[in-house]
Amino acid sequence: MSQATQSDSNKSTKITIVGGGLVGSLAALHLGKRGYEVHLYEYRDDIRKSQLVAGRSINLALSARGRRALTEVGLEDVLLDHGIPMRGRMLHDIKGRTTFVPYDRNTNQCIYSVGRKHLNEILLTATENYPNVHLHFNHKLMTAKLKHGELNFVNPNTRETFQVNTDLVIGCDGAYSAIRKHMLQHHGFDYSQTYIEHGYIELCIPSNNNEFAMPPNYLHIWPRGKFMMIALPNQDKTWTVTLFMPFKNFEKLKSSQDILLFFEEHFADAVPLIGERRLIEDFAKTKPQHLVSVKCHPYHIDAKVLLMGDAAHAMVPFFGQGMNAGFEDCTLLSQILDKYGDDFKAALSEFSETRWENAHTICDLAMYNYIEMRDLVTRLSFRIRKSVDDF
Ligand code: FAD
Repeated sequence: MSQATQSDSNKSTKITIVGGGLVGSLAALHLGKRGYEVHLYEYRDDIRKSQLVAGRSINLALSARGRRALTEVGLEDVLLDHGIPMRGRMLHDIKGRTTFVPYDRNTNQCIYSVGRKHLNEILLTATENYPNVHLHFNHKLMTAKLKHGELNFVNPNTRETFQVNTDLVIGCDGAYSAIRKHMLQHHGFDYSQTYIEHGYIELCIPSNNNEFAMPPNYLHIWPRGKFMMIALPNQDKTWTVTLFMPFKNFEKLKSSQDILLFFEEHFADAVPLIGERRLIEDFAKTKPQHLVSVKCHPYHIDAKVLLMGDAAHAMVPFFGQGMNAGFEDCTLLSQILDKYGDDFKAALSEFSETRWENAHTICDLAMYNYIEMRDLVTRLSFRIRKSVDDF
């Protein structure tokens, strides 16, 4: 029996999801499985048609929260087959010596490095099992009358405009959510955002004769106090390397020589792995990206609007929980709908009240781990030094 025929009988509520990233596409699956008519509108073109330069994918750490939400739509195994287990942190000190700090000494639990594009593709393709889920790409939400369920989109390529009327709109449109912006006009909606002084750029360690250039089953970290670099393994044996550093430090690195000297001084063991030429080229052509933490409350308006994922609670990435927490939103919404059925007024209110304190806490923990990873981790490494030269 196909998943589609397992879903409930058709329900009359029309649900519109704005944003077809990781959380929007998983939410479409969860709601499609329940039999709702779901329309997902995504700003970008279909990610499954776009090219990816090898080794330049952002990868993410998938952990228990996210895995559970994937299990609920039958996708955990598919994703874990692709994911690369990371059993702990591999710390690189300034001299290039490494120290292994396991995530879990007793039960050997681990997190998985998964490709963002691959994950998004799997989720979008899985929606095709549900004839009641409809995908609309190249639709950017421009304006909305949220209480009336009226949404206005534009095709960014043709400039054609579309009006959509819906019973419920779910904003899964990320940290800079347009839906959330419209909620600001509603009384009782609290909102705050914090930018940190650090930005990030992504670099790449290529494969070495089609093998990983470093031991693969770890999250590699080069903690350096005021800044840090991390690397997560990719399926194609490359590494996505992310350098987090204050914008003012990025600005100081203007010439090829500045870049090379900086890396030789702070990340000397990574230079031959990335390659001098590639390092300079990639660094020079990449603009550091901002990192923002968002808190708001409540996440809903009546039975009409709901925020999920980064739109509700964007966080700095140092706890590896942004996507995982967004996936957990899908689990929570499903549990609440089990309880309330189609009573969205009660369901959305309970979602907000159950979720906001936990979400704010994860945002705070992510901010704390910002200091832990680049700073405390350095002190830790001195206490439990253990050579892993045998890798
Ligand atoms: P997004 O992924 O931002 O998707 C939003 C979607 O909405 C996009 O497809 C966008 O095109 C679309 N959209 C935006 N505006 C509109 C509009 N007006 N109309 C229509 N569509 C629109 N999380 C983890 O759990 N583990 C990690 O290891 C991890 N690492 C990270 C590393 C970095 C450097 C960063 C920056 C983040 C990391 N995160 C991680 C966080 C994770 O990326 C986010 O939490 C996750 O992408 C949120 O998913 P989302 O679907 O809510 O938002």
